[in-house]
Amino acid sequence: MSQADPNCLFCKIVEGTIPSRKVYEDEEILVFHDIHPWAPVHFLMIPKRHVTSLAHVGDEHAPLLGRMLALAPRLALQEGCRPYPEGGHRVVINTGAEGGQEVHHLHVHVMGGPRPWLKG
Ligand code: AMP
Ligand code: ZN
Repeated sequence: MSQADPNCLFCKIVEGTIPSRKVYEDEEILVFHDIHPWAPVHFLMIPKRHVTSLAHVGDEHAPLLGRMLALAPRLALQEGCRPYPEGGHRVVINTGAEGGQEVHHLHVHVMGGPRPWLKG
């Protein structure tokens, strides 16, 4: 995995140079609220070490990505999403320009809560 990119917004959030509203943190993963939420619950899960996108992921990242996905439903409930099947949540990883990725540090969007949503 790469080192922190000094020009990367989410690396700055990991370092604390840019503030965030933290949801969860461990040695590898940081989770914080999206600054422009599309849904009543909308948080982002990122690896603390810079990975540019899902297109940059290799086998060595599989345990980390697995942990992030396994954590998503637990944090969604914690942040107020209703349980499956009535509630639930959406998990999105935008990848590349045509995939709608604007911040080039791998992030997993987790969105949920009562509809309608602003987007999605
Ligand atoms: P994407 O379009 O998938 O790259 O998503 C980037 C997301 O980052 C968008 O939903 C933004 O609202 C969110 N975002 C941008 N800057 C910040 C920030 N400083 N804190 C939290 N979320 C942010
Ligand atoms: Zn980064």
